[in-house]
Amino acid sequence: MDFFAAGNLLLALAYILQLLEGGPAWSLLSVINHNLTLASPIAYWLGAMRFFGRPVQLLRPLILFCVLYGLLQWLVQWGLGPTARYAMLAAMASLLFFVMTVTVIYGVRTFAKDLHGEMIFFALLISGICVLNALKFLKIMDGGLDALQMDSRFQLVFYIYMSTLATIVPPSIVWLVLRRLTDDLRNRAARDPLTDLLNRRGLVEALQQYFNTRSAVPAYLLLIDIDHFKNINDTYGHQAGDGVICHVAGLIRSTARRGDLTGRIGGEEFVAVCLETDEQGVMLLAERLRTKLESDVITLPGVIQPLRCTVTIGISPALYGAYGLEDALRQADAALYRGKAAGRDRVEVAMQSDSTVAQEPYAALAEG
Ligand code: GH3
Ligand code: MG
Ligand code: MG
Repeated sequence: MDFFAAGNLLLALAYILQLLEGGPAWSLLSVINHNLTLASPIAYWLGAMRFFGRPVQLLRPLILFCVLYGLLQWLVQWGLGPTARYAMLAAMASLLFFVMTVTVIYGVRTFAKDLHGEMIFFALLISGICVLNALKFLKIMDGGLDALQMDSRFQLVFYIYMSTLATIVPPSIVWLVLRRLTDDLRNRAARDPLTDLLNRRGLVEALQQYFNTRSAVPAYLLLIDIDHFKNINDTYGHQAGDGVICHVAGLIRSTARRGDLTGRIGGEEFVAVCLETDEQGVMLLAERLRTKLESDVITLPGVIQPLRCTVTIGISPALYGAYGLEDALRQADAALYRGKAAGRDRVEVAMQSDSTVAQEPYAALAEG
């Protein structure tokens, strides 16, 4: 926000100087005005870089630009004359806004996919300034400084467009920043910070969203628990334990199909909710997960020998709505309990009796 505010301030100062300056002339005021006019989009551009997570400075690049452009203005004024200095301003402004437009369009495809509509809107606004400055450059080249008379039709259109932007852009930027912040907060509230998988709340929200669609078919829930995880913690330390949790989370994420929901709902307990599939598909996914992990060698920084671990998986019966999540979890937990009791590293499907039988914690069955 501070970068954008600096951009606005520079632009406002440039306009005030423009009014004080009157017509085109060679004066200190005019040199500063040209510098501020171009420094303002640079501040916006740096602000946009910062907004999308690139660490950039504000003051240094701006001061450097002002010194260099001030020198260039002096050279052009004495070498080529005043018309060339004004033509250079229009060309530079057009070039800067062209770079900004290209950056924004690039952003739509890469770092700002979530702000698609807003970025297209900004690209349109900015490209307008680019085109107007390019036209101004051509007019100066064609008609000299007379093209800059404030009462000409072109200047009227130019300044109406710029004043309109000056009123539209600042609130749009505030809105953009707030939207990013609220999206970020919503995302954080729905995700587990260690693995970035959904947490319980995120799962419920995603399930509600899924079952609200007309085409939703029943879902199946996999409850996945790492076997003898306590031993890993005790032998290699808590940090290595966290590494194993992240490894398993990554494996679940990459094995699940696109569109399935993956979450972490406890220390070493994960959930995968399979959407758009049947019982057979779920069994296949569970087996694939189990065998992949069984054959996987986990290397962690700071741990010399490679680790191995296995999981036991409980599969719930079909789930018909987000309201059924707790029940599905309970039944998958009962199946998991049987899997643990039967020796671990296996997949168990919930049975009819699992919906009624109250279970003891399976951890009580842990060996050793
Ligand atoms: P079982 O095969 O029966 O599942 O045995 P287990 O040892 O995996 O099960 P248990 O539930 O007894 O152990 C889970 C352990 O997970 C206990 C707890 O200290 C550890 N834990 C919970 N949350 C975290 C975490 O975020 N990081 C790490 N490193 N350990 C955790
Ligand atoms: Mg466990
Ligand atoms: Mg557990």
